[in-house]
Amino acid sequence: MSSQQQQPHMVLMPSSGAGHIIPFLKVAGALASQNCRVTLITSHPLVSQPESALITRFLTLYPQVTEKQFHLLHLPPNYHSDDSSKDPFFRQWELIHRSLPRLSDILKSLSPPADALLSDISLMSSTISVTESLNIPNYVLFVSSARMFAFFAYYPALSDVLSGSAGEDELLEIPGLEGLPKSSVPPLLQDTTTPFATMLRANNDCIKKFDGFMINTCDVLEGKTVRALKSGKIVDGMPPIFAFLYPPWEPEKVNGSRSAAWERWLDEQLPASVVYVSFGSRAPLSREQTIEVAKALISCNYPFMWVAKFSVVDKDDGQSIHQVLGADLTHQVKEKGVVVQDWVDQQQIIGHKSVGGFVTHCGWNSILEASSYGVPMLGWPQGGDQGIIGVAMAECGIGMLGGKWGWNGEFVVKGEEIGMRIREMMESQKLRSRAAEVMEDIDKAVARGGVCDQTMKHFINKFIS
Ligand code: UDP
Ligand code: UDP
Repeated sequence: MSSQQQQPHMVLMPSSGAGHIIPFLKVAGALASQNCRVTLITSHPLVSQPESALITRFLTLYPQVTEKQFHLLHLPPNYHSDDSSKDPFFRQWELIHRSLPRLSDILKSLSPPADALLSDISLMSSTISVTESLNIPNYVLFVSSARMFAFFAYYPALSDVLSGSAGEDELLEIPGLEGLPKSSVPPLLQDTTTPFATMLRANNDCIKKFDGFMINTCDVLEGKTVRALKSGKIVDGMPPIFAFLYPPWEPEKVNGSRSAAWERWLDEQLPASVVYVSFGSRAPLSREQTIEVAKALISCNYPFMWVAKFSVVDKDDGQSIHQVLGADLTHQVKEKGVVVQDWVDQQQIIGHKSVGGFVTHCGWNSILEASSYGVPMLGWPQGGDQGIIGVAMAECGIGMLGGKWGWNGEFVVKGEEIGMRIREMMESQKLRSRAAEVMEDIDKAVARGGVCDQTMKHFINKFIS
């Protein structure tokens, strides 16, 4: 315990990718606002420019937060590139793992000493050895849904069904929960020998060594799953679970002073009329699929704002939409909507009154952002945890899934079918009213004195003597 016992010292260490960094920054900001001393460990070099911009902006908004840069080791010359290391974000996780002695030095150097480390799920097996040797409590800040956490926690018990001959429609039984369709598990986790699956199992092995898990969710979204996790039905002896959402960053803090062309365009559209399309920070679509998305948007009869992405990391995004679609389709697209290839402030878009529906890859942060603003969704999972998140989203009733649309690049879904589903989402009163209801519940939960606020205070109070 630090000497300043009224001001606990929380150290946060995200791993790579905007989807991991953004929730860590939000929790860091929330802890700093609750009078905690906060240190943020950032791993350098960062993978993408948006990661760097997000951290810089955060440190400007919260000057009381201290950044400690964790300089990663270089890869050895004989480093073999397997499938996982081709993904630069996954590769970064591995680099962090290799650089652990430096993490230990950072933690030892902190003054006052850390009261707790909040670390990322992908770094569990890496950070636990360090915090155990330094006797620092270690909590995981899980950046995905409770449903995904339940799957992760129960993964070893599912391996026979996953690698066996069960059909894609088969349901995976996790105690206390509705069956999870096998088809919602990506091929990388159905094959229990891939590097991703191996990492999941290694992290799973140390679940009980952790002091607790923070999951960014709330009752209205995933109450049943959180209760099942807390009950110990899924993992006997599960450490404490803290389920809380943090309030969205205040718009005036998030907005820059510049007004981009797309913002002015959004301002001119009718309320709830625009379809917003984005597949997150790292899920590019193939050229063929991009063409079909363009056809869907042209034919769906709604104005749209489309954030198009052609490579996993922003700096490799060399192609323009014009090169991918050709002159004719590009012209038609630009007549009916807006296409952006830059990084945008998604929360600002989703919170705009003109946005009436969201075509999403089901990244958990995206789902939370849309839920917080009552925007109905059409889910099209591309990989990783997104299929399982899609199930959670559909179960909650705030969105619908496209259908059997395969994993990223598996096959090309026709524009006509996508357009039909977009219209269905935009016209569904049921989705719209459920989304509004969920938004209201979330507002109450994150408000001062609400259940999320109380859970966070309860967590902080553990460190105040
Ligand atoms: N995001 C953004 N602008 C972009 C792309 C993504 O602000 O152009 C944000 C988005 O709002 C979300 C995060 O990046 O907070 C992406 O996380 P998510 O879990 O939705 O998906 P991932 O990118 O990790 O697959
Ligand atoms: N994950 C997990 N346990 C682990 C490692 C990862 O549950 O040991 C999950 C977690 O939900 C994480 C996701 O796997 O967010 C990573 O999926 P992906 O590679 O698609 O990256 P992301 O979408 O998070 O950027």
